[in-house]
Amino acid sequence: MEIGEFVKISEYSFMVIGERPHGNVGGIAIENYAVAIDSTGNLSGGRTFRKKLEEYYNLPIKYVILTHCHGDHISGRQAFKDADIVVSDYTPTDKGRFQNALFIKDEHLIQDGSYEVKIFHTGGHTVGSMFVHFPAEKIIFAGDLIFENLFPPFGGDPTCNPELWFNALDEIKTLKPIKIVPGHGPFLTGDKITNHISNLQKLRSCIKIAIKEKLKPSEIEITDYYGEFHPRWWSRTLPHWLSFYSTIDKIPGILEEIQSKSRDQNKILLSKMTVNELKVLANHLRIRVSGNKKKIVEGLLNYIEMR
Ligand SMILES: [Zn+2]
Repeated sequence: MEIGEFVKISEYSFMVIGERPHGNVGGIAIENYAVAIDSTGNLSGGRTFRKKLEEYYNLPIKYVILTHCHGDHISGRQAFKDADIVVSDYTPTDKGRFQNALFIKDEHLIQDGSYEVKIFHTGGHTVGSMFVHFPAEKIIFAGDLIFENLFPPFGGDPTCNPELWFNALDEIKTLKPIKIVPGHGPFLTGDKITNHISNLQKLRSCIKIAIKEKLKPSEIEITDYYGEFHPRWWSRTLPHWLSFYSTIDKIPGILEEIQSKSRDQNKILLSKMTVNELKVLANHLRIRVSGNKKKIVEGLLNYIEMR
């Protein structure tokens, strides 16, 4: 499948609207080279995108910033083998899959002449979610921290941390962008960020009420939101947010207890927790766990020992 419509955002920035299986992609031209943001959902999409970038800017592409590790954003990266890939150090997939990669954990700055591209590593939609800021034009490429015109934003990734997502949107708002390129859907003007913050707030209060009233995901309803309702993302987001918010309040206490105990004592403590609680703890610590309960406990113990 081809990638979609090419949209000029500003003098130096553009986006290409992604249609399944592609997320949106974008480009920024700075002084001596261009920067790509995300890479589409497959190699042929990546190649088409690269061609558009090079034709439009007539500049080499030096960096490809991957806003997070979902297939619809990273699977076209092989089309940019000669460029440097900037990707989160918290990537839950095998790091060996990324060639010429620069793994980042915090903010990162790309500077070329008098131009800057700033990368903010926030987590949220996934453990390694990042957004890209181009201050010269006040443009933000938000990746899947924003799904324009869709409700809910997809929050069903096991590493999704809703509280970090709130922080990320607040950070975007503070930067007062003129335009925002989302991970999916058309671009939006900066003031629309408030719609996305209130969407997350509505979702969170609805989840908290559901926990209090012990509702099942099928019994949860929401009517007042911004965007078009997406039933599949709704049903995939709810279970994760329910387990996140039923556990997150316990995490500070658990962390405090863990610090003062031996590995054997911690093993007993962690084994008493449910798999959901363990996963939320791992999510909070930004570590990757998988497998059965025994394996998750083992992974957490190893991490705690290394700290
Ligand atoms: Zn995503």
